[in-house]
Amino acid sequence: MFRLLIFAGVIYLTYRLLKFWKLKNTQSKAGFGKTDNVVDDIMIKDPFCETYFPKRNGVHLLVDGKDLYFCSTECRDKFIASQQKERT
Ligand SMILES: [Zn+2]
Repeated sequence: MFRLLIFAGVIYLTYRLLKFWKLKNTQSKAGFGKTDNVVDDIMIKDPFCETYFPKRNGVHLLVDGKDLYFCSTECRDKFIASQQKERT
């Protein structure tokens, strides 16, 4: 009987936890939609590591009159380094 109670308790806690996660997810999603500017929220590809990321989070770089966006400053620096290698 005691084991059954523990088992029921575990099930109940798992249920509560799942419900909490669901609530957290829906809240963050709703907040995301409200605060974000739709125009700025474009997914673009990092030309260096080829991952997709929101443009507004990107690191901008102007190369030969072209606007490039990178997922991180690290990728931007590596891209610049690789460009310089090609030219020399
Ligand atoms: Zn990158």
